[in-house]
Amino acid sequence: MELHAVPDLPEIRPGDDLAALIAERANLEPGNVLTVASTVVSKAEGRAADLSEFPAGPRAREIASRLEELTGEEKDPRFAQAVLEESTELAMDAPFLLTETRFGHVCVNAGIDRSNVPDHDLLLLPKRPTESAQRIRRGLETRGIEDVAVIVTDTCGRPFRHGQRGVALGWAGISASRDWRGEHDRDGRELGVTVQSVVDELASAANLVTGEGADGTPAVVVRGWSFGDLEGSDNLFRDLEGDFVRQALREWRFEG
Ligand code: GDP
Ligand code: MN
Ligand code: MN
Repeated sequence: MELHAVPDLPEIRPGDDLAALIAERANLEPGNVLTVASTVVSKAEGRAADLSEFPAGPRAREIASRLEELTGEEKDPRFAQAVLEESTELAMDAPFLLTETRFGHVCVNAGIDRSNVPDHDLLLLPKRPTESAQRIRRGLETRGIEDVAVIVTDTCGRPFRHGQRGVALGWAGISASRDWRGEHDRDGRELGVTVQSVVDELASAANLVTGEGADGTPAVVVRGWSFGDLEGSDNLFRDLEGDFVRQALREWRFEG
């Protein structure tokens, strides 16, 4: 398996055709996986925004002033407003904002970035990353590049462990997970629970290549990896009903 950054991509602007820009620079072949950082998908989709677009309502002001008290840092209530508008549920309101985005991904600050966004204050996540991935895949197909799976990624923290890593937000031409249940281990025992989130694993591997700073390499081609014969599924984001950690958070409040 090899991962290669797509070279020489320009600064991405609203309306840019990512499939075209990538197809011109990458040697994509059937069976390859293409990962694209959500940052550039958002830029192409016009998701850069300014704080002035988010006049803070009472809830956002309340959240920001409590965060200021707890952290001793200045918090802009308009940022809290942007996070609320991008989210369907606030899972934690302190000491940071953990929310569920409108497309089901749970992350800090609704995934809104303040780095790698020239001329604007904020970069919102793509509205519907799976549709973004489908659009890029179709764009490749119209250029004669068939059977390339596309994963839109982001860098995201995680509970229980230090450090951030790449995760998948949306995908096309590939299942999210590979189901090992019913397969056997080396002692012949049947696997009962293992469903492998291959889109997250590919996103994490690709993030090693994209970097997090000024590298300018948001797209990565994965060669020599295949999904194999196991069943796939598209479940990635847990529903609240099946997510006992999030349910426990509902009963908990940060007290400093
Ligand atoms: P995220 O993980 O999707 O939030 O994106 P990052 O901010 O970590 O950026 C991922 C990679 O994309 C890094 O190598 C950045 O330097 C690069 N990058 C960000 N924006 C652009 C852009 O407009 N053009 C190019 N060529 N690279 C970019
Ligand atoms: Mn990001
Ligand atoms: Mn990143």
